[in-house]
Amino acid sequence: MKLLSTLGLVTIAFAMNSAVQAKEWCTETLHNDWRQTFRVDKMLYEEKTEHQDLAIFYNKTFGNVLVLDGVIQVTEKDEYVYHEMMTHVPLLAHGNARNVLIIGGGDFGIAREVLKHNTVERVVLCEIDGSVVTFSKKHLGSIAQGAYNDPRLDVIIEDGCTFVKETDELFDVIICDSTDPIGPGAVLFTPEFYSDCHDILTPGGIFVNQNGVPFLQREELQSTYNSRLLSFQDVGFYLSVIPTYVGGFMAMGWASDDISNREVPLEVLEDRFQNISGELKYYTPALHKAAFVLPKFIQDALTES
Ligand code: SAM
Repeated sequence: MKLLSTLGLVTIAFAMNSAVQAKEWCTETLHNDWRQTFRVDKMLYEEKTEHQDLAIFYNKTFGNVLVLDGVIQVTEKDEYVYHEMMTHVPLLAHGNARNVLIIGGGDFGIAREVLKHNTVERVVLCEIDGSVVTFSKKHLGSIAQGAYNDPRLDVIIEDGCTFVKETDELFDVIICDSTDPIGPGAVLFTPEFYSDCHDILTPGGIFVNQNGVPFLQREELQSTYNSRLLSFQDVGFYLSVIPTYVGGFMAMGWASDDISNREVPLEVLEDRFQNISGELKYYTPALHKAAFVLPKFIQDALTES
């Protein structure tokens, strides 16, 4: 979704100005010429884990913020946009998902939303970094909302690329909620990974992933599109706007062998929508349909690729 800075570092700078007391600032160095900076009102936790640099801090506007290898992963304030759109679009399109696989997702936001579906019987969450799970439970409770206590959820600490290659389970929906295609996340953006995901989907199954900000990451959009076309009949994207994923709307990758999954009529989605328990703050069936309408510059990028 967001390019790591070449150094992969969050630069914590101390700033003093008249309006604000001396505070730490966290600058996410996404691009050489575009930076996003959060005031660190309280640093909650920092660790160099086996896989990545992990930091969680509190910001008065965005609540608790998770940063991995210098990239903003999730904030309490706007997380519901991403988690609802990454979950309810594939699950309501499918209509009868019982077994769901989440790759990554160590903050439990996707798991929380998947478990709102009454059809779901089993959720496997495969996260490479146990520290993310441990510290999300402790510092991101408003996101997890106790999802990890649901008996339907199985948390596995393993590289998602290995899991999909070796599992003998089949899934109706796979949601790849990973970091960027650099570092531990890189393997989750390869033709091999997509092929292995294809092979563990049930007939008519759906794969979605976080696929970057097209306005800034055109190449990532094009390469993943072509990689998924090698394994799936129907490949595309849908869009959503997440305020702290800078650069305009974000693309969510879509892949299935059943084209009808992308064309479910609005009234069918509205009917299925009734089967979700719990409150939503962003997703609506009408928005689901609209999200697949792509602006011309993205259509052109896909045509060119
Ligand atoms: N919503 C965020 C976004 O859009 O960038 C993603 C948040 S979630 C915390 C990303 C998770 O992917 C992290 O916990 C990271 O440890 C995990 N991850 C990265 N590479 C992985 C891999 N190869 N297998 C499983 N999990 C992985």
